[in-house]
Amino acid sequence: MKIILTRSADVDSTLFAEVANFLQAVPGSVISAIPKSTIKMIPDGSDNEWRTPEFDDFFSKCDGLREFSGLPIEKDDIVVLITGVPNDQNWFSGFQLPTSKRNIFICAEDWEYYVPESKVHFAIAYQVVENCIQVLMDLDYENEENSSYIHSKSKGCLNDFCGDKRDISLKIRTADICETCLDKINQYPEATAFLSYAHYVMTQVREKFVTRPENMGQWANQNGISLEINPVMRRIHICTGSTTLVRIELSALRFALYYSIIKFSEEHGGISPNQLAVKSIENREVFDFIRQVYHNNENESAITNLGNDPDMFSQYRSKINHHIKKEITNQYPNRPEGLLEKIQISPSQNGIYKVSFEGEIRVIDN
Ligand SMILES: [Zn+2]
Repeated sequence: MKIILTRSADVDSTLFAEVANFLQAVPGSVISAIPKSTIKMIPDGSDNEWRTPEFDDFFSKCDGLREFSGLPIEKDDIVVLITGVPNDQNWFSGFQLPTSKRNIFICAEDWEYYVPESKVHFAIAYQVVENCIQVLMDLDYENEENSSYIHSKSKGCLNDFCGDKRDISLKIRTADICETCLDKINQYPEATAFLSYAHYVMTQVREKFVTRPENMGQWANQNGISLEINPVMRRIHICTGSTTLVRIELSALRFALYYSIIKFSEEHGGISPNQLAVKSIENREVFDFIRQVYHNNENESAITNLGNDPDMFSQYRSKINHHIKKEITNQYPNRPEGLLEKIQISPSQNGIYKVSFEGEIRVIDN
C-alpha cells in the first residue's frame, strides 16, 4: 500500500512541497508525491459556470489520476488530493465511502484562522495521516454503528469530528488516539501496520504546536516572570577588605550563572558560554560548589542548557547586568567610577566573558 499525494493546480507548490517533504522525511514513509499538477478544480475562463464543489468532485479527480496518469497506482493505494478550493460542506478534509475507494481530499485554504500561518503545512500533514487511518480502519461515518468512533464532542482523539473547526488544534496538540478507537484500529491489519508511522507524524506535529514546560520557562524568562515556587534568592556581597561595596540579590539560576563566571574569571581568566555545557574538570569545581550551595542538581542542568544555547546565555547575561546596575544605582547615589563595569559580566576577547572585579566576592547565606 502506497499513499499518493497530489494537489490541484490552485494549491501553492511551496506549501505542497512542505507537506510532502515533511511526510516523506519520516522513517517508514510510504508517501509518493506528485508535485506537478494538471488537476483543475477552478474552471478556466469566465464562461464556465462556477459552483462550490461537492466531495464527489474531488473524488472523481482522484479516480482520474488513478486511470489516466499512467502512474503505477494500485487499487489498495490511497490517493490524497490537496486542494485550495472549499467544499459545499465546509470540511477540512474527507474520504470517499465506501472506504475501499481509498480517495481522500484535504482543503489547504483558511487554515490561518485556526493555526499559526507558519504551521499550516504541519496541520495538513496531520490531516493526511488522520484520513489515511480513518480509511484503513473503515470508519464509515454514514453508518450508525461507527458513531462511538466519531466523537461529536471533542476529547482530544484523532477521530474527533471537530464540528467547531477551532477544536482541530486540540487533537493536534494531544497527538492521541483514544482506547476505543485504538481497539477498532487493531481489528484492521493495514491500519495497525500504519500506526507506527502515524504515531511518529502525530508526535512530530505535536512538538510544533504544544507549549512545553521549557518553552514556558523561556517565555517567562523573556518576560521577567518567575515560575519558581518560593524562589530562593542568594545574596552576594562585593567587598574590599571588610567593607561591603554592593549587595546583590539574585534568583537561583541567575546566581548560579553569575557565580560560575566569577569562579572561572578568578581561576581561568573567563569563560566562553559553551564551556558551561562541557563537563570538564574545571567545571566540576564550579558545579560541585553550586550543588553544595543549592543541595540539588537542577541548577547544574540549567547551566548546561545555557551553555548549549548562546541566545539564552546572552539573555541571562543582560538580565543579570541590568539587575546589578539597578542594585548599584539604588545603593549609591554617586557610585565609585568603574565599579559597575567591573562587577558586570563583560565580553573580553574571543567570545570569552568575565567579571573583572579583583576584590572579594562573598556569598552570604540569608
Ligand atoms: Zn477516539
